[in-house]
Amino acid sequence: MSNSGFTFRRVREEMIEKLLDLGIKDFRVLDAISQVPRHIFVDEALRSRAYENRSLTIGYQQTISQPYIVARMTELLISHTNTRGKVFEKVLEIGSGCGYQSAVLSFFCEEIDAIERIKPLVYKSRENLSNLKIHNVKFKHGDGYTDWSNKIQYDGILCAAAPRSYPDDLINILKNEAKLVIPVGGTSQVLKVISKKGKEVQEKTFDDVTFVPMLAGISNDGTDL
Ligand code: SAH
Repeated sequence: MSNSGFTFRRVREEMIEKLLDLGIKDFRVLDAISQVPRHIFVDEALRSRAYENRSLTIGYQQTISQPYIVARMTELLISHTNTRGKVFEKVLEIGSGCGYQSAVLSFFCEEIDAIERIKPLVYKSRENLSNLKIHNVKFKHGDGYTDWSNKIQYDGILCAAAPRSYPDDLINILKNEAKLVIPVGGTSQVLKVISKKGKEVQEKTFDDVTFVPMLAGISNDGTDL
């Protein structure tokens, strides 16, 4: 193990304890989070704070999500499964940022299609996951409102940016019994889980949250924000 890995081990354990205190119950999720070194996703200057339960800047006016939120969204996405390991074949992630959430999700999916609208973040996330030898995430520069194939049916969709209301189109690319986990709202937002049950669509509301807005279109350098 590298020196920095050794130095961060204790704070990583403390972060897991904090997530347990905050109510994360699924040990599969806690186990995945404990295996992903969050410090490699942030700039050197922020590394000492990487295991605090807070979001941190990743440039381009974007942030790496708070560990609690990453854990909570993952827990909600997989809650109807009960085996260990890769419970899903294919998952769509929208707003993959620096790839931290993707790295955690990669433990549960054979394959992830990840879409991010800011190009340099796509490069950053590819590099981060390659450094961690995680090879089952395909990062694409695109707009999560439109840039996925409607020929694929997903076992789950996790969106890390907040639209005003959830896009109906995303429900059409969900398999039966699968879920969309997504923050919705403007200045006040909530985390929603939309489940597809045959022709029915079930909607449940969870935590109050704060995400960046889900913006239409792509950006080559983040300067359109
Ligand atoms: N979970 C990520 C951080 C998410 S921040 C991580 O672990 O790093 C939300 C991300 O959503 C930002 O990077 C933002 O650029 C992106 N985003 C916003 N609107 C989007 C859209 N329409 N399509 C794809 N990505 C989008």
